[in-house]
Amino acid sequence: MINEEKERELFFKLFFAESAEKIVRLECFIDEAKKKAPEKNLGVLQIFDETIEILKSQFLNEAHEFNERLESKGFSKDRKYSHGLILRLFNRFSRKIQEIHKCLKWIYTPWTEKETYAFLNQLVLGSDIKFSIVFTDEYTFLKHDAHKDLPDFVDISKAPLLALPKIERNNPLRWTILAHEVGHVLAERLNITTRIYENFSTCENFKRVVGEIKKDRILQAWIPELAADAISLRFLGPAAIMPFINFCITMIENNLQNPTEFHPPPSRRLEYLLNSLEMDMQVEYQAPRFKELFEQLNRYRDFFFIRCYIDGEMRIDRIIDEDFEKEYLSLKLLKAIAENVYSLCWSKDCQISTFSIDDYDKNDELKKMLHQNIPIGSYSPEKKKISARSRLENAKKNKKVNLARIYPDLNQGLLSMSEIVNAGWAEKLDRQLYDWWEIFKEAKEFEKAFNEYRDRLLEYDLLLRKSMEMSLIHTFYHEKSKERGVK
Ligand SMILES: [Zn+2]
Repeated sequence: MINEEKERELFFKLFFAESAEKIVRLECFIDEAKKKAPEKNLGVLQIFDETIEILKSQFLNEAHEFNERLESKGFSKDRKYSHGLILRLFNRFSRKIQEIHKCLKWIYTPWTEKETYAFLNQLVLGSDIKFSIVFTDEYTFLKHDAHKDLPDFVDISKAPLLALPKIERNNPLRWTILAHEVGHVLAERLNITTRIYENFSTCENFKRVVGEIKKDRILQAWIPELAADAISLRFLGPAAIMPFINFCITMIENNLQNPTEFHPPPSRRLEYLLNSLEMDMQVEYQAPRFKELFEQLNRYRDFFFIRCYIDGEMRIDRIIDEDFEKEYLSLKLLKAIAENVYSLCWSKDCQISTFSIDDYDKNDELKKMLHQNIPIGSYSPEKKKISARSRLENAKKNKKVNLARIYPDLNQGLLSMSEIVNAGWAEKLDRQLYDWWEIFKEAKEFEKAFNEYRDRLLEYDLLLRKSMEMSLIHTFYHEKSKERGVK
């Protein structure tokens, strides 16, 4: 099998695993709802049970077919037909999942988990931003201005709402997409769109091309998107890129090269994110310490472009002409956005936490811990862990347990939420492609395989949430010990 074929095969495996994951999440959401539902309302849950059952069996049939194709008929024969066909199949699935998701509005949903707030709050710890996180019925992530729903009540609070799809309630790796939404909140506060727009609209070139109001409007919609991308990258580093890729290739049905009135083409956004990782964060591609990072990022990026290639074969018409896109998604514009974002957001009076590429040095080690199902929130280099433990033992013997004195030792390896999700994404990619896929590959009974996949996935969610909880506890004691002046 040639290499390109192998990559395509991996791409479809990823797509497959990701679609299966969505079904798992729907199923779990309904199971949780059942526990709290009054008996008289079980009928509505039954509707979902049946729907998901049908979806699952359709999916497993397709999976079977897909597997056969991989095993016997060969992936490379009749290439165009089969790749486009498989992509269409998966797209049809994501559409069905979105349809079911919309109907979740019939079910009462409690509030977001505390870890979700902790995760987002840590990003903007130094600022006074307060946002709420609510659930959406559409499978989408967004920042919403509540007061726009209430136009007759002009004086109400302008507090931003961040919306998370209901089924991702327990999935920390999806909360990372909300970093982009936090980016929107910041970009708006700092007036980034107006600043950039004014700057650019004085160019001669601009006046010539943006003659029409529609184009003008599009540009004003695209600038905040690119600014939010830049901010999320600054918050999370590679963990901002991985969920973006994953979301685009599995949940967006449109051609990934296609812009919309609200968003530049995903392919351009990715190009920009990768470029920015290199330029603004000074990640050297050649440095051996980043070898692991780039192997994974490159693999992910390849999946994205495989999808673009197949999209191209399927030819979906572009709604915005290419000239406009080329003219305005220039490096010059992107650079201006990035410069504005970085100088304003990370200035002295707007203290916001930044992902540091130096933190990534631990990533490999953290990934290994996750692989062994060890929560990583308390990560500390072995030696320090032992010294802290022995002090803890001594303290217990003396019956004077002063946690504030002990925690600084444990905290030598205090991990941020950003480090946790970075390790989480890196490990997830490996698991999905190799470990988790194996469950389906050999499966005689798909139902059984599906349940095993579900169990592993939920275990992984728990592992990451535990890691976040530990990080929270350690930060708390760390702060406490600083208050008491313990060094
Ligand atoms: Zn956005």
